[in-house]
Amino acid sequence: MTLRESLASAQEGGYAIPHFNVSDSTQLNTIAKLAVEREQTVVIGASKGAEAFFGREVLAGMVGVLRKLGAPLFLNADHCHDVERAKKAIDAGFDAVIIDGSTLSMEENIAQTREVVAYARGCGRDVLVEGELGYIGSSSALLDDIPEGAGLTLTSVEDAEMFVRDTGVDLFSPSVGNIHGMLKHSANPKLDIERISMIADSMDASLVLHGGSGISDEDFTAAIKAGIRIVHINTELRRAYRTGIEGALTANPDEVAPYKYLTKGAEMMEEVVENRMNLFANK
Ligand SMILES: [Zn+2]
Repeated sequence: MTLRESLASAQEGGYAIPHFNVSDSTQLNTIAKLAVEREQTVVIGASKGAEAFFGREVLAGMVGVLRKLGAPLFLNADHCHDVERAKKAIDAGFDAVIIDGSTLSMEENIAQTREVVAYARGCGRDVLVEGELGYIGSSSALLDDIPEGAGLTLTSVEDAEMFVRDTGVDLFSPSVGNIHGMLKHSANPKLDIERISMIADSMDASLVLHGGSGISDEDFTAAIKAGIRIVHINTELRRAYRTGIEGALTANPDEVAPYKYLTKGAEMMEEVVENRMNLFANK
């Protein structure tokens, strides 16, 4: 199945596909193993930093190998802020790219997004392009406060409809109360479920929810019912991975074998991944 077909199935079945960000091969292998075991499609996301850390071609190659071995994975270039990075990801074999012009003017955002859509259409493969409208912050970290300006302006149904029509994107990410990152001392803000539902009804593009870490289970379930088809989870995975590694090193301060302490990080992360896979698939 292609990612486009998987999204059509998700639409039909009323569920969402998890988008898990990875920084290294331990995280990637852990998620791939669970995707195989559970026969559940997952989008693997790489931020600019993670992509550089892996090596763009190495990451694309690894996901290709895992797919040949039976893992239902797709690869997405998360938040490309410039057209060049999006084009390079398409050239490297990524299945989807996000061109993020959410801090630009509407005109600049549309122009930049159209350029990437045109490139994707001409690449000879069915690469999906996601556009972003509405600033939701840019840090996948543990935060003391909501980032300045994030989530202040929620995306209107009219703007969303116009943006998708003018750009021809396959995937669309609105600002609907979500923020990137995870608040340390409180739950993340609540989602505007009615807005999600109206935006979903206004377009054929699949809706993507960013900043999934820190959102309540109730909000997730309602958002998916309202039309969200991909949910991004990053900060929660990072936190669990680090906690597991820290625990392993604290328990065995002299341990120097990465496969031992990284395994503890992977085990801690597995819990989060499985929990999210269950929730998004309505299992
Ligand atoms: Zn994001």
